[in-house]
Amino acid sequence: MHLQSFGAACTVTGSMHLLTLGGRRVLVDCGLFQGGDELEARNREAFSFDVAELDAVILTHAHLDHVGRLPLLVRRGYRGAVYCTPPTAALAETVLLDSARLQVEGYKQDLRRARRQGREDEVPPPLYEEEDVHRALALLRPSLEFGETASVAGVRVTPGRAGHILGSAYLLLESGGERLLMSGDLGNRESGLQLDFTPPPEADAAVIETTYANRTHRSWEATLAEFAQALRASVRQGGKILIPTFAIERAQVILATLKDLMDSGEVPRIPIFLDSPMAARATGEYFEYGDELRADVRDELRAGEDPFRPNTLHVVPTSAESQRINRYDGPAIIMAGNGMMTGGRIQHHLKHHLWKPSTSLIVVSYQSPASLGGRIVGGAGHVRLMGEEVAVRAQVHTIGGFSAHADQDDLLAFLDTAGRPHVWLVHGEPEVMAGFVPLLAARGLKGDLVPDRQPVDLLGGGYADGRPPGLVLDRSPAESLQAEAGE
Ligand SMILES: [Zn+2]
Repeated sequence: MHLQSFGAACTVTGSMHLLTLGGRRVLVDCGLFQGGDELEARNREAFSFDVAELDAVILTHAHLDHVGRLPLLVRRGYRGAVYCTPPTAALAETVLLDSARLQVEGYKQDLRRARRQGREDEVPPPLYEEEDVHRALALLRPSLEFGETASVAGVRVTPGRAGHILGSAYLLLESGGERLLMSGDLGNRESGLQLDFTPPPEADAAVIETTYANRTHRSWEATLAEFAQALRASVRQGGKILIPTFAIERAQVILATLKDLMDSGEVPRIPIFLDSPMAARATGEYFEYGDELRADVRDELRAGEDPFRPNTLHVVPTSAESQRINRYDGPAIIMAGNGMMTGGRIQHHLKHHLWKPSTSLIVVSYQSPASLGGRIVGGAGHVRLMGEEVAVRAQVHTIGGFSAHADQDDLLAFLDTAGRPHVWLVHGEPEVMAGFVPLLAARGLKGDLVPDRQPVDLLGGGYADGRPPGLVLDRSPAESLQAEAGE
């Protein structure tokens, strides 16, 4: 039972895990690297395995960092099946079409700039285009159902509810009597929309995500109070309230929360612009699969109500209308993508408002340290936005509790029922993972970091201190904990 990770190994994005079990080669997730030029350059690298020799692909969920390189895999020759749950297939269509559009738009923009410099030959083509996405979508087999064992290229696969976003699954893979758990992304058990993850069965090895393995999220109640307070303070400032929002899950959670807070009078009713056609489309899928959601939301939907539509909501379809929001006077909430502020419509809103002290920036999503959002949250005085230097004078509020990711307690609780697996850590910053290894040891579990691109024997001995040779940590696990606590 071997694993070779081509993404999300000692980093958070780009999930792509090649498993070899029982002589079969199964790729779990095929995600895009996101968050900074250095990481994103890796999206262009050749796959270091023979694409045509894969027996199957399984997607745990539809986030771009888990599905975003699928069209590239197909462009480079993959013709086999791609298994996932039905909601994941529906959301993947929205996510991948948007990604292709961004690839092509980015390419055209780079080309225009390069032409002026006489360097058009140096611009790389888009990673993929819409037709690649349609070929990838044609390979989707939305046949995985929670709790039901399926045969995927001869490997027994049982998906479990991961509680992270709509349709998200963890996987139990069984072959030759060996059992492997792949967590995918696990949910925060205090989520506004998703049901909790179901306890996993026992396994010999577990590959688990560790995005927030070093922190404990605020309770849902405290998060709501914090969000309401930030909103009230921002309304008093009188400026625009920018909420950079990932289109899937976070947008729906924020819409539902704003509706509750405005309906109950805790927050004044001010206009809300949902400046993300992709978030609007994804919200349609949350309707379609409403039975998957928490009981209160499901019941509202069944009663014909719309939990995602505050009274003052305006959905902004075109970029021309998006530009017009800047001429709107008075306080208003602007929700726009992308969540890490590295692209999308949020950028022109930031350019227009980030330098004004009356603006509030409410950060409700994970920010990779190298991303624009990470730099703003980290206290940068100036940032570069659309080719211009912009001062950061807005009030920045960071609300961590909306996370769709498991925190330390959730991760340990997930492992509670899994027996005594050898735990392999992925999807986290190296310092965070290194700090989690001793917590696993205290529970009698061996924990190891999955090295980038190096093959590992999942049932082998692992490493002496849990760290693959050659791994250099930027800060010690203790420093990492302090930094997180000080946020
Ligand atoms: Zn995810």
